[in-house]
Amino acid sequence: MTDSVLIVGAGVTGLHAAQECAAAGAKAIVIEQGPIVGGRLAAAMTKATAIGDRAEGEKVPLLEALANNDNIEIITNATLKKVDGRPGALEVSIVERARFVTDACTRCKLCHGVCPVVLPNEYDAGLTFRKAIYTPMLHTMPEAWVIDIENCLNTPPNYLPCNRCSEVCEDDAIHFDQALTKSHNRHVGAIILAPGFRVGDATDFKEFGYGSHPDIVTSAELQRLLESPGPTGGYASKPSDEEYPESVLLVLDNPSPFTLYIVASQAHQLIEQDIEDVAVLILSQPTGTAGTDAAKLLSEMAGIQANWGTMLQVDTAAENGLAVSYEDFQAGKLTRHSYDMIVLCTDVAPADNLADLAETAGVKLGKDGYLTVTDADGEKVCTDHPGIFVAGCASGPKNIKNSIAEARAATRKAISQLAPVSLVSDTAGDSSAESAPPPANEDMRAQIEKLLHALINQPNV
Ligand code: SF4
Ligand code: SF4
Repeated sequence: MTDSVLIVGAGVTGLHAAQECAAAGAKAIVIEQGPIVGGRLAAAMTKATAIGDRAEGEKVPLLEALANNDNIEIITNATLKKVDGRPGALEVSIVERARFVTDACTRCKLCHGVCPVVLPNEYDAGLTFRKAIYTPMLHTMPEAWVIDIENCLNTPPNYLPCNRCSEVCEDDAIHFDQALTKSHNRHVGAIILAPGFRVGDATDFKEFGYGSHPDIVTSAELQRLLESPGPTGGYASKPSDEEYPESVLLVLDNPSPFTLYIVASQAHQLIEQDIEDVAVLILSQPTGTAGTDAAKLLSEMAGIQANWGTMLQVDTAAENGLAVSYEDFQAGKLTRHSYDMIVLCTDVAPADNLADLAETAGVKLGKDGYLTVTDADGEKVCTDHPGIFVAGCASGPKNIKNSIAEARAATRKAISQLAPVSLVSDTAGDSSAESAPPPANEDMRAQIEKLLHALINQPNV
């Protein structure tokens, strides 16, 4: 038997599961496909206000606590390649891709200035640019920069002819001689799959003017603008001239609980920024419970009513901004109104490579592309592969609160597969001092709770 749980995905759900495992005395091995932890909420994890008043540049305690927790091992740039064995005794094989930049990196940025390869920064929703050697954002874990070897001019195996970055790096942190991949084999009792989700394709919005005017943005792009570590410092300024908008229309094509939550949350944040005219247009009929639920959510979270209709035209050459014409289902007439900005709410989709992960883990994939859960006890975290559990958006879109509830349920079930004798349970409030977890656990737990509290109560999906 073993005291370890493998967690696939280092977003809020995966990290919450890791924290729960560590607090229960188990070892959590967290693997993350990307180069840093945090997933979609990596920026929020570094957002000073989300975790208490922190001066700019001060180390973020949540990330520090994660790094210092002996019960949590994090491997970034990593993919699950093989699973063998039975519940309680699973052998897993993990492949870690080279970072080419070591922990000696001091984040001095010298390499950034000389790298000739310019690419959109995925962590800024493509609103800013990065180089082939880069750091996705201001504070990251791990702290070392990373080389995107797919786009680097130095190609394996000779790594010629560029080397501009390694020539300027005074800390000798760049090493093209690292093996392209490294294998890790681990013995775990259970696996929690929490790879998160992918933002839907923005090209679906061409018919609504996306790509034809800089002030027609997606909800993912707006979200990045609304985050304080983002390119505008947290203000929803217009990409065309960086001026503050006076009117914003949020358009929702495919209303689901998840996308409605995003729209209501963003409408709330825009109103909080004193934008006078914030409107929501839902491209659907306001019928049934979906209509009632949408109206209730928008009213409760943002204090506004939804408009329901069919988008007919977006005139980007109009004198007073972006002129939107739509058929208003409730008023039963054509409506035309001008806005300074239009936000198109992108749908969510299964995480990249979710099908590969399902195949490796031996878990069924549904027709919708998400992992299938067996709903034996209503918690929706069990799969048809004993010992392997799912949490968060891997089984379908859901909000942070529900993702966290699943992380807790999946962790409880995963821990039940481990050898109880090897666990030291976290008995907060228990008078038994011997069974208390190490201080790092408490620190991290407190920071994660603060982060989640901020995210759930000031919705910022
Ligand atoms: S890799 Fe080297 S040059 Fe680039 S930020 Fe790190 S220490 Fe600076
Ligand atoms: S070797 Fe690659 S990462 Fe380094 S400067 Fe050249 S292109 Fe950029």
